[in-house]
Formats: sequence, structure tokens, C-alpha cells
Amino acid sequence: MSNRLSEPEQRLCRAIAQRLDSMVADLAIHVAIPTGRGFRPGLDHYRGILADRLQSLGSSLELIPGDPRPPWIEPPARLSLHEAAADEECDPLPALLARHPLKQSRTRILLSGHIDTVHDPQGSFQSLSIAGDRATATGPGVVDMKGGILIAINALEALAELGVDLHWSFILDSDEETGSFMCDRALRDSARDHDVALALEPALPGGALAVERMGSGQFKVECFGRSAHAGRDFGKGVSAVYALARIITQLESLARPDQGMIVNVGPLVGGELTNAVPDNAACWGNVRFVDNRAADILAKSIESLATMRDDLPRVAVQRIWNRPAKPRTDSSMKLAELAHSVAAELGQPMTFASTGGVCDGNNLQAAGLPTIDTLGVRGGNLHRTDEFIELASLVERCQLLALLMLRLSENRLQGT
Ligand SMILES: [Zn+2]
Repeated sequence: MSNRLSEPEQRLCRAIAQRLDSMVADLAIHVAIPTGRGFRPGLDHYRGILADRLQSLGSSLELIPGDPRPPWIEPPARLSLHEAAADEECDPLPALLARHPLKQSRTRILLSGHIDTVHDPQGSFQSLSIAGDRATATGPGVVDMKGGILIAINALEALAELGVDLHWSFILDSDEETGSFMCDRALRDSARDHDVALALEPALPGGALAVERMGSGQFKVECFGRSAHAGRDFGKGVSAVYALARIITQLESLARPDQGMIVNVGPLVGGELTNAVPDNAACWGNVRFVDNRAADILAKSIESLATMRDDLPRVAVQRIWNRPAKPRTDSSMKLAELAHSVAAELGQPMTFASTGGVCDGNNLQAAGLPTIDTLGVRGGNLHRTDEFIELASLVERCQLLALLMLRLSENRLQGT
């Protein structure tokens, strides 16, 4: 620890270091609650535990109802994979917002986390397993992002115990891993009345901080033709599958990775029999874009594939660009530089990086808040059944986050 830290800051760091055992014990409890794939009982249970901790810190709680996911988003293969998705359509998942306002605070901090994981609530990967040398531990959501949420709560608790009062809110959504369609409104609304957002996504490899992210969107192209017997009436048929094949080659030609535009197609469906001309075919896809201009080009190009209502084959297009691009801005770089200098004082090297991955940080920055979003713990193998955390990062990243919040509350952002 650097001696550039003030005496109270050093005390804060020591208090956090003493929390390691309790953090590991809490992590084991949180990781063992299945919160993947819209599994409502687990999500409600875990959200309840977090709500109690946040309420004990003197915050007021609000459960913000979610909005329905666009029903066309889900390809049929995924629908059959987990029936939970059908349930989600009826009753969207909510977000929890804890508010801890403070009148005299100079910087109003919004913490952001997601309580869902990608993991199968009925799968075999269900609990925390600590390696023999205690350097790492595996578990579902251990870095993405139950470890991140845990360090944020511990940072708030450690600050409170030392008598540091901050203006903070904490938004916890329930569907980040599937695009935050349900909780997007809650995220955007919570961004109001704050000055900065800190999101607890896992650190990039080596502890790097993501300072720019591409945006992302979903689309579906559906083709309608005319069915006919393939042998007797082939000439009368209009194949929706051939129409879709032509569309897919057009979609391929729209991708310009070197110009920050990615178009990925899959899955796809079409036809039911080999001896009938198929009258229906559809594909789903994902786009990534580096900025609003690229997002607009992709939107116009994909929408232009649609035909008139009476055309045969007819082509219908649906799309939603749900994660705006998160480019570097002056204010987000100021925030990143502050995190960088705090990390340096703690002896934690931090580099800056760009990524094509997306997260709630995209939505929060688009809602007007300078946002840094990889302040969570270190680990790896995200979205796999060998997802792991580096246990030492619980303390190190908690110290970084707590110190960053402290400096922000002292208005160091403007002062740097
Ligand atoms: Zn995540």
C-alpha cells in the first residue's frame, strides 16, 4: 500500500482486508443461489438478501417493475432450451433500486450490478469450490457478477463503519445477461439525479478497465412464400428458404468489422418437409456498432430488406438496438483516470482497453452518466462451467472501489 494514502484511507484499506473471510463465506452463500436464465425463485431470494444488506446501510428500497421482452427476440431453439423464458413474457423481472441520498455531497454515485447469471439453474455447476491453495475458487456467477456485487456492498459497509457518509444509489437488475430488455427503463430512470456510474462487471484480463464498448442490437428477418408440392407443382411454389438465403448473403455483405460494424446471423429455421416448397423461413441475428453513425447505417440497411405487404416472397424485419455504443468521452476518461490513479496508489497496475462486449454500462452512459464498468473482481472463464475468481481480488478490488468512491465524494473528479 502506498504511503500517498492518507491515514483515514489506510485505515479504510486495513478494515477491508479484515473482511476477506466474511466475503468468502458470503460469496459461497450467494453463488449457491441459482439466478440463471430467469429463474425467479433464486432471483427473488438473492435480491432479498442484498436488499436487507442495503437497507441496513440506511438506504430506502424501491422495486421497479420490468417491461416485457419483445416476444420475437427469442429464437425457437432457445425457447425449448429453457421454459423459463415463456414465463418471463407474462411477468417481467424487476430491478431493485436502493437510494442513500446525502444533501451536502458533491458527487452522487450510482452503483450498478446484475443479479442474474448465464448458468443453468438445474445444471451441475451450483456451488463455490475453493482451490487447495485458496488462490482461486470456481462457482456460477462468481465473477460475473456476484463477486462484484459483494465487494460493492462491503465497500459501502466499510466506509459507513469509518463514519464516511456518501451519496450513493445501487441499481440491481435481473436480466442483464439476456440484454436488459426488462430493466432498461429502470436503469435509465435511475441514472437521473446522479453524477457518475460505477458498474461491477468483472475486470478485463490483468485488471484492465474497459473505457469504450461497442453497442449491440438484435434483429429477426422472416420470409413468407407459397407452399407447393415439390414434384407436381414446383413452378407454383415460392420458396421462403431461397428468399432467406439471398437475404443472408446481403446481411453478410453489410458487416464491416474494420469500420466498426459487425453482423452475425444465426440461428435460422425454414420449411418442414423436403418434398414441399417451404412457405416460411426466418433468421435471427446480432449487430455490433462502434458509434451512433454505424448503428444508423446498420438499422437503415437491415430495414431496407423488408418488402411490401403484397410481395411474394415477402420479407418482414424486426429489430431493436438495445445497447447503445459506449464511446470514450472526456467525462468518462476523467473518471477512468481517477480510477487509474487510485489503483496506482494501491499498487494495482491498471491499463485501459476497448471491447466489443456490452453491459449495463452502455445503457447508463447513453442515459447521460459518465460510466466505468469493469470495477468488479478478477477471474476468468466467464459464461462457462469453470468460471473462477482470484480470491485476493475480493480485497484488492474492494479497496479500489471504496477509495474511488471516497475520492469522488471529495470531488476529486473535478479537481484532477
Ligand atoms: Zn456481467
